[in-house]
Amino acid sequence: MTQGATALPYVGRFAPSPTGPLHAGSLLAAVASWLDAARVSGQWLLRIEDVDSARSRDQWRESFRSDLARFGLRPARAPALQSQRNSFYEAAIEQLGAKHLLFRCACTRRELAAEGEPCCLRDCRGRALDPRESALRVDLTAIPPMTVQDRSLGAIVFDPRVHRDVVIRRRDGIITYQLAVVVDDALQGVTDVVRGADLLASTAWQIALQHALDLPALKYLHLPVLTERDGGKLAKSRHAASVSEVEVIPALQQTLRWLRQDWPTLETTQPDEWLRRAALSWDPTRFAGIAAVAIDD
Ligand code: GLU
Repeated sequence: MTQGATALPYVGRFAPSPTGPLHAGSLLAAVASWLDAARVSGQWLLRIEDVDSARSRDQWRESFRSDLARFGLRPARAPALQSQRNSFYEAAIEQLGAKHLLFRCACTRRELAAEGEPCCLRDCRGRALDPRESALRVDLTAIPPMTVQDRSLGAIVFDPRVHRDVVIRRRDGIITYQLAVVVDDALQGVTDVVRGADLLASTAWQIALQHALDLPALKYLHLPVLTERDGGKLAKSRHAASVSEVEVIPALQQTLRWLRQDWPTLETTQPDEWLRRAALSWDPTRFAGIAAVAIDD
């Protein structure tokens, strides 16, 4: 697999999970992915990652589109909803099955958490386990080691000795994020993934799954994650609150400040033109190597 071998027109995406409102951190990912696409006149898509039906809420599913539009962020096509795409994920599972890469694993979440280990703890491979009592994993040990250069953070290494396997269907039957994101990026023709550096660890699994499914390689740009001043995750009570009522242009300015970007000095309350101007000077090298930014910076 050669990284970035594709010369296809740029297709980017923003892929929020409707498990909470759009907050300052998700707005940062939305704005950065939009600007990165707009800089090269590419397309920008919206995908609602509601594959986990237990955690997804209609309330957020519905508000994302209008919240984003308020900031001038409009997708090029109707948003894709993962909850309606199960047949694509099942087709991918069949393909992996035909390659003899699947096995069932009975390790419980509690056991895995206690070991701090996402991969199968015991040797569940080859055991005939009840599908209702076990998760479905892809054995990645036969995949060759791979390295992808992130545009900001450098090498993402997939080492089969470390990453060994990945859950693609949970024991409750829910398809996991790792599989859904890989299938959807390919089917939607995505060429460039721009998202928070908190997802960097997942990227190794995703490039391995792309390889296992014979899908094209993508380019990655991982963004600094917004943190509280003490380095902790954004607290719901403070900055992880919804951006649905904040003032639009100041919030966009603040987003670009976190990303060390210049922003247009434009007397306007209209985000569309403001963003188009901001795209002209969009420069991801300004945050190269920065994995986290404190919200008060
Ligand atoms: N749905 C994921 C999230 O909200 C993001 C997935 C991605 O950008 O690959 O964290």
